[in-house]
Amino acid sequence: MRIDVFTIFPALVDDFASESLLGKARERSLLDLRVHDLREHTTDSHRTVDDSPFGGGAGMVMAPDPIFRSVEAAEPPRPLFALGPGGRRFDQSMARELGDTEGFSLLCGRYEGIDERVLDSLVDDQLSIGDYVLGGGEVAALVVVEAVTRLVPGAMGNATSADEESFADGLIEYPQYTRPAEYRGMEVPDVLRSGDHGRVARWRAAMALARTRDRRPDLLAARGGLSGEDIALLEEFGL
Ligand code: SAH
Repeated sequence: MRIDVFTIFPALVDDFASESLLGKARERSLLDLRVHDLREHTTDSHRTVDDSPFGGGAGMVMAPDPIFRSVEAAEPPRPLFALGPGGRRFDQSMARELGDTEGFSLLCGRYEGIDERVLDSLVDDQLSIGDYVLGGGEVAALVVVEAVTRLVPGAMGNATSADEESFADGLIEYPQYTRPAEYRGMEVPDVLRSGDHGRVARWRAAMALARTRDRRPDLLAARGGLSGEDIALLEEFGL
C-alpha cells in the first residue's frame, strides 16, 4: 500500500511512522509511506506557504500554489483527502475500505485552513477524525495511516485479531486479561480459566453486548438494538 502525505512538518509524520507497527510495516515494504514537504515547492526565499485571508479576519490561510505544485510533482495515489474538521467523519468502516485499496493520499492543513480552490479542484474529498479542532492535519493524518495500515494483511502479528476487536461487528470489545490470574486481590473471571471454549466465546459476546449497551447505545441502535438471541446471551451471564 502506498500512502503519500503532504505537510509543512514532514519530520512530525516521518518520525512517528518510523517506530512500532508503522515502522515495521515500512521495513517489510507492506507500507510505502511518502512524506512530501510543501515548502519544497515554494518560490520565494522565505519559503512562504501561507497568506492573510481575503475579506479579513484572524490568522493565515495556506496558499494554493505550493500545494498544487507539490501534488503535481508527486503524482500521488488517489483519492487525495484533505484533513479538516468539516470533512467526512473517518471511522473503522472507512479504515477497512481504505485498507482494501492500493493506496491513497492525505493533505495536512495548518493555520486557519486551506484555500478553498485546493479543496474544490485538487483534492477528491475531505476527512475529519472527530468533532474537535486540532492545530494541524499531521496528527489526523497519522490517525488515518495507523488505523488503515494495521488492517493490511501481514502488518499485525496476529491476523485474526482485526476481526474480533472493537467495531468489527458494530460492538466494542469484551474485556481482556493476562497473567497473573490474581493481582492485588482482583481476579480474572472464572469462565476465562474454565477451558470451556464455547462458554468463553459466549461470555465474550455477552460482555461486548453489555458494554456497548452501557457505554455506546448509539452503536447498538445503529445495529438495530438487541435481538432475542442477544437478550438470551445477556441473561445467561446475568448481564
Ligand atoms: N479554521 C478551521 C480549523 C483549522 S485547524 C475550521 O474552523 O474548520 C488547522 C488544520 O488542522 C486544518 O486545516 C486541518 O488540516 C487540521 N485539523 C484540525 N482539526 C481536524 C480534525 N478534527 N480532523 C482532521 N483534521 C483536522
